[in-house]
Amino acid sequence: MNPQLELSQIQTFEGKYPKQLWWLFFSEMWERFSFYGMRGVLTFFMVNQLMMSESVANLQYGATQAFVYAFTFVGGLFADKILGFRRSLMWGGLLMIIGSLILAVDPKDYFFIGIAFNIVGTGFFKPNISSMVGTLYKDDDVRRDAGFSLFYSGINVGALLGGYLCVYLGKTYSWNLAFGLTAIVMTISVATFAFSQRYLGPIGLSPRHGQPDEAKTRWYDWATYAGSLAIIPVIITMVSKTDLTDYFMYTIGPLTLIYVGYEMARSTPDERKKLAAAMVFILFSIIFWAFFEQSGGSLSLFAANNLEPYSVFGWFSIDPNGVNNSSNSLFVIIFAPLLGLLWVALAARKREPNTVVKFGLGFLFLAAAFWIFFATRFFANEKGITSLGVFTGAYLVITFGELCLSPIGLSIMTKLSPKKLQGVMMGMWFLASAYGQYAAGLLGAGMTSPLPEATPLDKLTSYTAGYQQLALYALVAGVVLLAISPLVRKLMGEVK
Ligand code: GLN
Repeated sequence: MNPQLELSQIQTFEGKYPKQLWWLFFSEMWERFSFYGMRGVLTFFMVNQLMMSESVANLQYGATQAFVYAFTFVGGLFADKILGFRRSLMWGGLLMIIGSLILAVDPKDYFFIGIAFNIVGTGFFKPNISSMVGTLYKDDDVRRDAGFSLFYSGINVGALLGGYLCVYLGKTYSWNLAFGLTAIVMTISVATFAFSQRYLGPIGLSPRHGQPDEAKTRWYDWATYAGSLAIIPVIITMVSKTDLTDYFMYTIGPLTLIYVGYEMARSTPDERKKLAAAMVFILFSIIFWAFFEQSGGSLSLFAANNLEPYSVFGWFSIDPNGVNNSSNSLFVIIFAPLLGLLWVALAARKREPNTVVKFGLGFLFLAAAFWIFFATRFFANEKGITSLGVFTGAYLVITFGELCLSPIGLSIMTKLSPKKLQGVMMGMWFLASAYGQYAAGLLGAGMTSPLPEATPLDKLTSYTAGYQQLALYALVAGVVLLAISPLVRKLMGEVK
Protein backbone atom coordinates (compact mmCIF):
# COMPACT_ATOMS: atom_id res chain seq x y z
CA MET A 1 0.00 0.00 0.00
CA ASN A 2 1.15 3.52 -0.69
CA PRO A 3 0.56 5.30 2.61
CA GLN A 4 1.20 8.66 0.99
CA LEU A 5 -1.78 8.37 -1.30
CA GLU A 6 -4.65 10.42 0.11
CA LEU A 7 -8.29 9.92 -0.77
CA SER A 8 -8.45 13.42 -2.23
CA GLN A 9 -5.52 12.63 -4.56
CA ILE A 10 -7.34 9.57 -5.87
CA GLN A 11 -10.59 11.43 -6.32
CA THR A 12 -9.10 14.42 -8.14
CA PHE A 13 -7.95 12.39 -11.11
CA GLU A 14 -7.69 13.79 -14.60
CA GLY A 15 -9.31 12.33 -17.69
CA LYS A 16 -12.42 10.18 -17.89
CA TYR A 17 -11.57 7.38 -15.48
CA PRO A 18 -9.50 7.05 -12.29
CA LYS A 19 -6.62 4.60 -12.85
CA GLN A 20 -7.71 2.50 -9.87
CA LEU A 21 -10.89 1.73 -11.77
CA TRP A 22 -8.92 -0.46 -14.17
CA TRP A 23 -7.71 -2.68 -11.32
CA LEU A 24 -11.24 -3.11 -10.05
CA PHE A 25 -12.41 -3.62 -13.64
CA PHE A 26 -10.03 -6.56 -14.16
CA SER A 27 -10.55 -8.07 -10.74
CA GLU A 28 -14.33 -8.03 -11.23
CA MET A 29 -13.99 -9.22 -14.82
CA TRP A 30 -12.21 -12.39 -13.67
CA GLU A 31 -14.61 -12.88 -10.78
CA ARG A 32 -17.56 -12.67 -13.17
CA PHE A 33 -15.79 -15.05 -15.57
CA SER A 34 -15.71 -17.54 -12.75
CA PHE A 35 -19.25 -16.77 -11.58
CA TYR A 36 -20.91 -16.85 -15.01
CA GLY A 37 -18.79 -19.80 -16.04
CA MET A 38 -20.29 -21.72 -13.16
CA ARG A 39 -23.78 -20.30 -13.70
CA GLY A 40 -23.72 -21.36 -17.35
CA VAL A 41 -22.78 -24.90 -16.37
CA LEU A 42 -25.11 -25.48 -13.42
CA THR A 43 -28.43 -26.50 -14.97
CA PHE A 44 -26.85 -28.54 -17.72
CA PHE A 45 -24.58 -30.30 -15.22
CA MET A 46 -27.44 -31.07 -12.83
CA VAL A 47 -29.51 -32.65 -15.60
CA ASN A 48 -26.72 -34.48 -17.43
CA GLN A 49 -24.40 -35.48 -14.63
CA LEU A 50 -26.44 -35.44 -11.43
CA MET A 51 -29.42 -36.93 -13.30
CA MET A 52 -31.95 -34.48 -11.92
CA SER A 53 -35.21 -33.94 -13.79
CA GLU A 54 -35.44 -30.66 -15.70
CA SER A 55 -37.98 -29.19 -13.31
CA VAL A 56 -35.89 -30.06 -10.23
CA ALA A 57 -32.79 -28.64 -11.91
CA ASN A 58 -34.64 -25.42 -12.70
CA LEU A 59 -35.76 -25.02 -9.12
CA GLN A 60 -32.31 -25.88 -7.86
CA TYR A 61 -30.79 -23.35 -10.22
CA GLY A 62 -33.22 -20.65 -9.04
CA ALA A 63 -32.41 -21.48 -5.42
CA THR A 64 -28.68 -21.20 -6.03
CA GLN A 65 -29.00 -17.87 -7.78
CA ALA A 66 -31.34 -16.49 -5.13
CA PHE A 67 -28.92 -17.54 -2.38
CA VAL A 68 -25.92 -16.05 -4.15
CA TYR A 69 -27.55 -12.66 -4.41
CA ALA A 70 -29.15 -12.85 -0.97
CA PHE A 71 -25.73 -13.33 0.61
CA THR A 72 -24.51 -10.09 -0.89
CA PHE A 73 -26.55 -8.35 1.81
CA VAL A 74 -24.67 -10.24 4.51
CA GLY A 75 -21.35 -9.56 2.78
CA GLY A 76 -22.13 -5.86 2.52
CA LEU A 77 -23.22 -5.67 6.15
CA PHE A 78 -20.06 -7.28 7.50
CA ALA A 79 -17.89 -5.12 5.26
CA ASP A 80 -19.46 -1.95 6.66
CA LYS A 81 -19.36 -3.00 10.26
CA ILE A 82 -16.26 -5.13 10.61
CA LEU A 83 -14.01 -6.13 7.76
CA GLY A 84 -14.01 -3.16 5.41
CA PHE A 85 -14.22 -3.71 1.66
CA ARG A 86 -10.69 -4.99 1.17
CA ARG A 87 -10.67 -7.83 3.65
CA SER A 88 -14.21 -8.77 2.58
CA LEU A 89 -13.06 -9.04 -0.99
CA MET A 90 -10.00 -11.08 -0.18
CA TRP A 91 -11.98 -13.39 2.07
CA GLY A 92 -14.82 -13.77 -0.42
CA GLY A 93 -12.34 -14.44 -3.21
CA LEU A 94 -10.58 -17.07 -1.14
CA LEU A 95 -13.87 -18.86 -0.40
CA MET A 96 -14.74 -18.81 -4.09
CA ILE A 97 -11.36 -20.33 -4.98
CA ILE A 98 -11.89 -23.07 -2.38
CA GLY A 99 -15.43 -23.70 -3.68
CA SER A 100 -14.20 -24.02 -7.26
CA LEU A 101 -11.34 -26.32 -6.22
CA ILE A 102 -13.76 -28.57 -4.37
CA LEU A 103 -15.89 -28.80 -7.51
CA ALA A 104 -12.81 -29.38 -9.65
CA VAL A 105 -11.80 -32.35 -7.49
CA ASP A 106 -15.18 -34.08 -7.52
CA PRO A 107 -18.07 -32.09 -8.97
CA LYS A 108 -20.59 -34.89 -8.49
CA ASP A 109 -20.07 -35.90 -4.88
CA TYR A 110 -19.10 -32.49 -3.53
CA PHE A 111 -21.49 -30.49 -5.67
CA PHE A 112 -23.46 -28.71 -2.95
CA ILE A 113 -20.39 -28.18 -0.77
CA GLY A 114 -18.59 -26.40 -3.59
CA ILE A 115 -21.69 -24.38 -4.44
CA ALA A 116 -22.15 -23.31 -0.80
CA PHE A 117 -18.56 -21.99 -0.62
CA ASN A 118 -19.21 -20.04 -3.79
CA ILE A 119 -22.44 -18.58 -2.42
CA VAL A 120 -20.80 -17.22 0.72
CA GLY A 121 -17.71 -16.11 -1.20
CA THR A 122 -19.70 -14.19 -3.78
CA GLY A 123 -21.62 -12.57 -0.93
CA PHE A 124 -18.39 -11.10 0.44
CA PHE A 125 -16.93 -10.22 -2.96
CA LYS A 126 -19.61 -8.95 -5.31
CA PRO A 127 -21.28 -6.02 -3.51
CA ASN A 128 -18.05 -4.73 -2.03
CA ILE A 129 -16.06 -4.42 -5.22
CA SER A 130 -18.99 -2.45 -6.66
CA SER A 131 -19.04 -0.16 -3.62
CA MET A 132 -15.31 0.42 -4.00
CA VAL A 133 -15.84 1.80 -7.49
CA GLY A 134 -18.07 4.48 -5.95
CA THR A 135 -15.38 5.50 -3.46
CA LEU A 136 -13.07 6.56 -6.31
CA TYR A 137 -15.29 9.56 -6.97
CA LYS A 138 -16.15 12.70 -5.09
CA ASP A 139 -19.83 13.02 -4.25
CA ASP A 140 -20.57 15.48 -7.04
CA ASP A 141 -18.35 14.01 -9.76
CA VAL A 142 -20.41 13.68 -12.95
CA ARG A 143 -17.99 11.04 -14.29
CA ARG A 144 -19.21 8.43 -11.80
CA ASP A 145 -21.97 6.91 -13.99
CA ALA A 146 -19.53 6.59 -16.89
CA GLY A 147 -17.10 4.81 -14.55
CA PHE A 148 -19.79 2.35 -13.52
CA SER A 149 -20.66 1.80 -17.17
CA LEU A 150 -17.05 0.89 -17.89
CA PHE A 151 -16.94 -1.38 -14.86
CA TYR A 152 -20.13 -3.00 -16.15
CA SER A 153 -18.43 -3.73 -19.48
CA GLY A 154 -15.73 -5.59 -17.55
CA ILE A 155 -18.44 -7.65 -15.85
CA ASN A 156 -19.76 -8.64 -19.24
CA VAL A 157 -16.39 -9.42 -20.82
CA GLY A 158 -15.94 -11.89 -17.98
CA ALA A 159 -19.52 -13.17 -18.33
CA LEU A 160 -19.13 -13.69 -22.07
CA LEU A 161 -15.80 -15.54 -21.87
CA GLY A 162 -16.64 -17.60 -18.79
CA GLY A 163 -20.20 -18.37 -19.92
CA TYR A 164 -18.92 -19.73 -23.20
CA LEU A 165 -15.65 -21.41 -22.21
CA CYS A 166 -16.67 -23.34 -19.10
CA VAL A 167 -19.64 -25.11 -20.62
CA TYR A 168 -17.55 -25.83 -23.73
CA LEU A 169 -14.73 -27.37 -21.66
CA GLY A 170 -17.21 -29.35 -19.58
CA LYS A 171 -19.10 -30.76 -22.56
CA THR A 172 -16.02 -31.42 -24.69
CA TYR A 173 -13.31 -32.46 -22.20
CA SER A 174 -14.21 -32.78 -18.54
CA TRP A 175 -16.27 -31.11 -15.87
CA ASN A 176 -13.33 -31.19 -13.47
CA LEU A 177 -11.48 -29.06 -15.96
CA ALA A 178 -14.38 -26.63 -16.33
CA PHE A 179 -14.55 -26.04 -12.58
CA GLY A 180 -10.75 -26.07 -12.37
CA LEU A 181 -10.70 -23.19 -14.82
CA THR A 182 -13.03 -21.16 -12.59
CA ALA A 183 -10.60 -21.76 -9.69
CA ILE A 184 -7.63 -20.54 -11.74
CA VAL A 185 -9.48 -17.49 -12.98
CA MET A 186 -10.71 -16.63 -9.48
CA THR A 187 -7.12 -16.80 -8.29
CA ILE A 188 -6.18 -14.27 -10.98
CA SER A 189 -9.02 -12.05 -9.75
CA VAL A 190 -7.82 -12.14 -6.14
CA ALA A 191 -4.19 -11.62 -7.15
CA THR A 192 -5.21 -8.61 -9.27
CA PHE A 193 -7.05 -7.12 -6.34
CA ALA A 194 -4.23 -7.86 -3.90
CA PHE A 195 -1.82 -6.07 -6.21
CA SER A 196 -4.16 -3.09 -6.66
CA GLN A 197 -4.21 -2.34 -2.95
CA ARG A 198 -1.04 -0.26 -3.16
CA TYR A 199 -2.94 2.26 -5.28
CA LEU A 200 -6.02 2.47 -3.11
CA GLY A 201 -4.73 4.74 -0.35
CA PRO A 202 -7.20 4.57 2.53
CA ILE A 203 -10.07 3.18 0.43
CA GLY A 204 -11.70 0.01 1.71
CA LEU A 205 -9.80 -0.25 5.00
CA SER A 206 -11.66 -1.65 7.98
CA PRO A 207 -14.00 0.84 9.69
CA ARG A 208 -11.91 0.21 12.83
CA HIS A 209 -8.68 1.14 11.07
CA GLY A 210 -6.69 3.65 13.10
CA GLN A 211 -9.15 3.51 16.02
CA PRO A 212 -7.58 3.23 19.48
CA ASP A 213 -9.21 -0.18 20.04
CA GLU A 214 -8.18 -1.56 16.64
CA ALA A 215 -5.80 -4.21 17.98
CA LYS A 216 -8.18 -5.26 20.73
CA THR A 217 -11.10 -5.70 18.33
CA ARG A 218 -9.11 -7.66 15.81
CA TRP A 219 -10.96 -10.78 16.93
CA TYR A 220 -14.13 -9.38 15.28
CA ASP A 221 -12.49 -10.18 11.95
CA TRP A 222 -11.66 -13.72 13.02
CA ALA A 223 -15.17 -14.21 14.37
CA THR A 224 -16.57 -13.09 10.99
CA TYR A 225 -14.33 -15.54 9.14
CA ALA A 226 -15.25 -18.35 11.54
CA GLY A 227 -18.96 -17.48 11.38
CA SER A 228 -18.96 -17.51 7.58
CA LEU A 229 -17.38 -20.97 7.59
CA ALA A 230 -19.83 -22.20 10.21
CA ILE A 231 -22.81 -21.13 8.09
CA ILE A 232 -21.68 -23.24 5.12
CA PRO A 233 -23.23 -26.54 6.33
CA VAL A 234 -26.53 -24.69 6.84
CA ILE A 235 -26.39 -23.37 3.28
CA ILE A 236 -25.56 -26.80 1.92
CA THR A 237 -28.78 -28.09 3.46
CA MET A 238 -30.92 -25.12 2.46
CA VAL A 239 -29.77 -24.94 -1.14
CA SER A 240 -30.14 -28.65 -1.70
CA LYS A 241 -33.75 -28.64 -0.47
CA THR A 242 -35.59 -26.02 -2.49
CA ASP A 243 -38.60 -25.77 -0.16
CA LEU A 244 -36.19 -24.51 2.52
CA THR A 245 -35.11 -21.87 0.00
CA ASP A 246 -38.72 -20.68 -0.14
CA TYR A 247 -38.75 -20.14 3.64
CA PHE A 248 -35.42 -18.40 3.44
CA MET A 249 -36.72 -16.01 0.82
CA TYR A 250 -39.88 -15.30 2.86
CA THR A 251 -37.74 -14.39 5.85
CA ILE A 252 -34.64 -12.59 4.62
CA GLY A 253 -36.48 -9.78 2.79
CA PRO A 254 -38.65 -8.66 5.72
CA LEU A 255 -35.68 -8.96 8.11
CA THR A 256 -33.50 -6.75 5.96
CA LEU A 257 -36.31 -4.23 5.59
CA ILE A 258 -36.61 -4.07 9.38
CA TYR A 259 -32.86 -3.60 9.62
CA VAL A 260 -32.80 -0.80 7.04
CA GLY A 261 -35.77 0.80 8.85
CA TYR A 262 -33.74 0.69 12.06
CA GLU A 263 -30.74 2.31 10.35
CA MET A 264 -33.00 4.93 8.80
CA ALA A 265 -34.41 5.80 12.20
CA ARG A 266 -30.83 6.39 13.44
CA SER A 267 -29.91 8.58 10.46
CA THR A 268 -30.25 12.31 9.93
CA PRO A 269 -33.41 13.50 8.08
CA ASP A 270 -31.38 14.18 4.94
CA GLU A 271 -29.79 10.69 5.00
CA ARG A 272 -33.20 9.19 5.71
CA LYS A 273 -34.74 10.77 2.63
CA LYS A 274 -31.90 9.54 0.46
CA LEU A 275 -32.23 6.03 1.83
CA ALA A 276 -35.96 6.15 1.10
CA ALA A 277 -35.16 7.11 -2.50
CA ALA A 278 -32.65 4.23 -2.65
CA MET A 279 -35.42 1.87 -1.51
CA VAL A 280 -37.66 3.02 -4.39
CA PHE A 281 -34.90 2.11 -6.85
CA ILE A 282 -34.33 -1.20 -5.11
CA LEU A 283 -38.01 -2.16 -5.16
CA PHE A 284 -38.41 -1.31 -8.85
CA SER A 285 -35.28 -3.26 -9.67
CA ILE A 286 -36.94 -6.43 -8.32
CA ILE A 287 -39.56 -6.11 -11.05
CA PHE A 288 -36.90 -5.41 -13.62
CA TRP A 289 -34.82 -8.48 -12.76
CA ALA A 290 -37.88 -10.72 -12.49
CA PHE A 291 -38.57 -9.98 -16.17
CA PHE A 292 -34.98 -9.68 -17.34
CA GLU A 293 -33.95 -12.98 -15.78
CA GLN A 294 -36.32 -14.88 -18.04
CA SER A 295 -33.13 -15.18 -20.05
CA GLY A 296 -31.77 -17.93 -17.80
CA GLY A 297 -35.14 -19.72 -17.63
CA SER A 298 -38.08 -19.48 -20.03
CA LEU A 299 -36.10 -17.77 -22.80
CA SER A 300 -33.52 -20.52 -22.84
CA LEU A 301 -36.32 -23.07 -23.26
CA PHE A 302 -37.83 -20.83 -25.93
CA ALA A 303 -34.46 -20.78 -27.70
CA ALA A 304 -34.26 -24.56 -27.50
CA ASN A 305 -37.86 -25.20 -28.66
CA ASN A 306 -38.70 -22.45 -31.11
CA LEU A 307 -35.47 -21.40 -32.78
CA GLU A 308 -33.15 -23.18 -35.16
CA PRO A 309 -29.38 -22.88 -35.60
CA TYR A 310 -28.41 -20.22 -38.06
CA SER A 311 -25.83 -21.06 -40.67
CA VAL A 312 -23.37 -18.29 -41.48
CA PHE A 313 -22.62 -18.63 -45.24
CA GLY A 314 -22.52 -22.37 -44.66
CA TRP A 315 -19.22 -21.97 -42.72
CA PHE A 316 -20.47 -22.46 -39.23
CA SER A 317 -23.77 -22.49 -37.45
CA ILE A 318 -24.85 -20.32 -34.57
CA ASP A 319 -26.63 -22.13 -31.79
CA PRO A 320 -29.78 -20.37 -30.52
CA ASN A 321 -28.95 -21.17 -26.90
CA GLY A 322 -25.51 -19.69 -27.41
CA VAL A 323 -27.22 -16.56 -28.73
CA ASN A 324 -29.53 -16.57 -25.73
CA ASN A 325 -26.60 -16.87 -23.30
CA SER A 326 -24.13 -14.48 -24.85
CA SER A 327 -25.78 -11.85 -27.07
CA ASN A 328 -26.73 -9.71 -24.08
CA SER A 329 -23.14 -9.63 -22.78
CA LEU A 330 -21.81 -8.86 -26.23
CA PHE A 331 -24.24 -5.96 -26.66
CA VAL A 332 -23.32 -4.64 -23.20
CA ILE A 333 -19.62 -4.68 -24.11
CA ILE A 334 -20.32 -2.77 -27.32
CA PHE A 335 -22.82 -0.27 -26.00
CA ALA A 336 -21.92 0.37 -22.33
CA PRO A 337 -18.90 2.57 -23.18
CA LEU A 338 -20.88 4.43 -25.83
CA LEU A 339 -23.77 5.05 -23.48
CA GLY A 340 -21.29 6.07 -20.77
CA LEU A 341 -19.80 8.64 -23.13
CA LEU A 342 -23.28 9.81 -24.09
CA TRP A 343 -24.13 10.46 -20.43
CA VAL A 344 -20.89 12.45 -19.99
CA ALA A 345 -21.56 14.46 -23.16
CA LEU A 346 -25.12 15.20 -22.07
CA ALA A 347 -23.90 16.15 -18.59
CA ALA A 348 -21.48 18.63 -20.14
CA ARG A 349 -24.47 20.27 -21.83
CA LYS A 350 -26.49 19.99 -18.63
CA ARG A 351 -28.97 17.77 -20.49
CA GLU A 352 -28.27 14.41 -18.82
CA PRO A 353 -31.48 12.69 -17.66
CA ASN A 354 -31.50 12.10 -13.92
CA THR A 355 -31.43 8.61 -12.46
CA VAL A 356 -35.20 8.27 -11.98
CA VAL A 357 -35.76 9.11 -15.63
CA LYS A 358 -33.02 6.67 -16.67
CA PHE A 359 -34.73 3.95 -14.62
CA GLY A 360 -38.06 4.85 -16.26
CA LEU A 361 -36.39 4.57 -19.68
CA GLY A 362 -34.93 1.23 -18.61
CA PHE A 363 -38.45 -0.09 -18.09
CA LEU A 364 -39.64 1.32 -21.42
CA PHE A 365 -36.82 -0.53 -23.19
CA LEU A 366 -37.72 -3.64 -21.20
CA ALA A 367 -41.34 -3.30 -22.34
CA ALA A 368 -40.26 -2.86 -25.97
CA ALA A 369 -37.97 -5.89 -25.74
CA PHE A 370 -40.70 -8.14 -24.37
CA TRP A 371 -43.05 -6.86 -27.00
CA ILE A 372 -40.50 -8.01 -29.59
CA PHE A 373 -40.21 -11.40 -27.86
CA PHE A 374 -44.02 -11.53 -28.10
CA ALA A 375 -43.87 -10.46 -31.77
CA THR A 376 -41.63 -13.41 -32.66
CA ARG A 377 -44.92 -15.33 -33.01
CA PHE A 378 -45.69 -13.32 -36.17
CA PHE A 379 -42.50 -14.63 -37.78
CA ALA A 380 -43.10 -18.29 -36.97
CA ASN A 381 -43.71 -21.07 -39.49
CA GLU A 382 -46.47 -23.63 -39.06
CA LYS A 383 -44.21 -25.76 -36.83
CA GLY A 384 -43.68 -22.92 -34.38
CA ILE A 385 -40.08 -22.18 -35.42
CA THR A 386 -39.45 -18.47 -35.46
CA SER A 387 -36.80 -15.92 -36.37
CA LEU A 388 -33.46 -15.95 -34.55
CA GLY A 389 -32.82 -12.44 -35.90
CA VAL A 390 -35.95 -10.97 -34.31
CA PHE A 391 -35.15 -12.81 -31.07
CA THR A 392 -31.62 -11.32 -31.08
CA GLY A 393 -33.14 -7.89 -31.82
CA ALA A 394 -35.13 -8.20 -28.60
CA TYR A 395 -31.85 -8.86 -26.73
CA LEU A 396 -30.38 -5.70 -28.25
CA VAL A 397 -33.30 -3.67 -26.93
CA ILE A 398 -33.31 -5.34 -23.50
CA THR A 399 -29.59 -4.53 -23.23
CA PHE A 400 -30.35 -0.82 -23.49
CA GLY A 401 -32.89 -1.27 -20.72
CA GLU A 402 -30.27 -3.03 -18.58
CA LEU A 403 -27.75 -0.27 -19.25
CA CYS A 404 -30.24 2.41 -18.16
CA LEU A 405 -30.81 0.59 -14.90
CA SER A 406 -28.11 -1.79 -13.74
CA PRO A 407 -24.82 0.21 -13.83
CA ILE A 408 -26.79 3.33 -12.93
CA GLY A 409 -28.30 1.44 -10.01
CA LEU A 410 -24.83 0.55 -8.69
CA SER A 411 -23.81 4.16 -9.04
CA ILE A 412 -26.88 5.60 -7.32
CA MET A 413 -26.54 3.23 -4.36
CA THR A 414 -23.08 4.68 -3.72
CA LYS A 415 -24.45 8.22 -4.02
CA LEU A 416 -27.50 7.82 -1.81
CA SER A 417 -25.99 5.78 1.01
CA PRO A 418 -24.16 7.42 3.90
CA LYS A 419 -20.59 6.14 4.18
CA LYS A 420 -21.37 3.81 7.07
CA LEU A 421 -24.09 2.03 5.06
CA GLN A 422 -22.44 1.74 1.64
CA GLY A 423 -21.95 -2.01 1.83
CA VAL A 424 -25.39 -2.73 3.26
CA MET A 425 -27.17 -0.70 0.61
CA MET A 426 -25.15 -2.30 -2.17
CA GLY A 427 -26.12 -5.61 -0.59
CA MET A 428 -29.78 -4.52 -0.67
CA TRP A 429 -29.41 -3.68 -4.34
CA PHE A 430 -28.23 -7.21 -5.07
CA LEU A 431 -30.79 -8.70 -2.69
CA ALA A 432 -33.36 -7.21 -5.08
CA SER A 433 -31.71 -9.35 -7.77
CA ALA A 434 -32.17 -12.37 -5.50
CA TYR A 435 -35.91 -11.70 -5.35
CA GLY A 436 -35.90 -10.94 -9.07
CA GLN A 437 -34.30 -14.32 -9.78
CA TYR A 438 -36.73 -16.04 -7.50
CA ALA A 439 -39.75 -14.32 -9.08
CA ALA A 440 -38.36 -14.96 -12.56
CA GLY A 441 -38.59 -18.69 -11.97
CA LEU A 442 -42.18 -18.43 -10.78
CA LEU A 443 -43.16 -16.22 -13.73
CA GLY A 444 -41.44 -18.54 -16.20
CA ALA A 445 -43.17 -21.58 -14.71
CA GLY A 446 -46.51 -19.77 -14.99
CA MET A 447 -45.98 -19.17 -18.71
CA THR A 448 -45.41 -22.78 -19.71
CA SER A 449 -48.07 -24.41 -21.84
CA PRO A 450 -50.66 -26.29 -19.75
CA LEU A 451 -51.02 -28.95 -22.50
CA PRO A 452 -49.41 -32.24 -21.51
CA GLU A 453 -48.15 -33.00 -25.06
CA ALA A 454 -47.42 -29.42 -26.06
CA THR A 455 -46.01 -28.98 -29.57
CA PRO A 456 -43.40 -26.28 -30.29
CA LEU A 457 -46.26 -24.18 -31.71
CA ASP A 458 -48.27 -24.54 -28.48
CA LYS A 459 -45.19 -23.56 -26.50
CA LEU A 460 -44.57 -20.57 -28.73
CA THR A 461 -48.15 -19.41 -28.27
CA SER A 462 -48.02 -19.86 -24.53
CA TYR A 463 -44.64 -18.21 -23.91
CA THR A 464 -45.24 -15.29 -26.25
CA ALA A 465 -48.61 -14.62 -24.57
CA GLY A 466 -46.66 -14.41 -21.31
CA TYR A 467 -44.12 -12.04 -22.87
CA GLN A 468 -46.94 -9.79 -24.03
CA GLN A 469 -48.15 -9.55 -20.44
CA LEU A 470 -44.63 -8.78 -19.23
CA ALA A 471 -44.34 -6.03 -21.86
CA LEU A 472 -47.50 -4.45 -20.54
CA TYR A 473 -46.44 -4.63 -16.90
CA ALA A 474 -43.00 -3.22 -17.75
CA LEU A 475 -44.67 -0.35 -19.56
CA VAL A 476 -46.88 0.36 -16.54
CA ALA A 477 -43.85 0.24 -14.20
CA GLY A 478 -41.95 2.66 -16.46
CA VAL A 479 -44.85 5.09 -16.60
CA VAL A 480 -45.33 4.92 -12.82
CA LEU A 481 -41.62 5.63 -12.29
CA LEU A 482 -41.70 8.61 -14.62
CA ALA A 483 -44.87 9.85 -12.90
CA ILE A 484 -43.36 9.64 -9.40
CA SER A 485 -40.00 10.99 -10.54
CA PRO A 486 -40.57 14.52 -9.11
CA LEU A 487 -41.26 12.98 -5.69
CA VAL A 488 -38.23 10.68 -5.78
CA ARG A 489 -36.02 13.53 -6.99
CA LYS A 490 -37.11 15.55 -3.98
CA LEU A 491 -36.05 12.72 -1.70
CA MET A 492 -32.69 12.54 -3.45
CA GLY A 493 -31.84 16.14 -2.60
CA GLU A 494 -28.74 17.30 -4.46
CA VAL A 495 -27.99 13.79 -5.84
CA LYS A 496 -28.77 13.43 -9.53
N1 GLN B 1 -25.09 -8.82 -14.87
C1 GLN B 1 -24.75 -8.02 -13.75
C2 GLN B 1 -23.68 -8.64 -12.90
O1 GLN B 1 -23.42 -9.80 -12.94
C3 GLN B 1 -25.98 -7.68 -12.91
C4 GLN B 1 -26.46 -8.79 -12.11
C5 GLN B 1 -27.61 -8.41 -11.24
O2 GLN B 1 -27.61 -7.41 -10.51
N2 GLN B 1 -28.64 -9.18 -11.26
O3 GLN B 1 -23.07 -7.97 -12.14
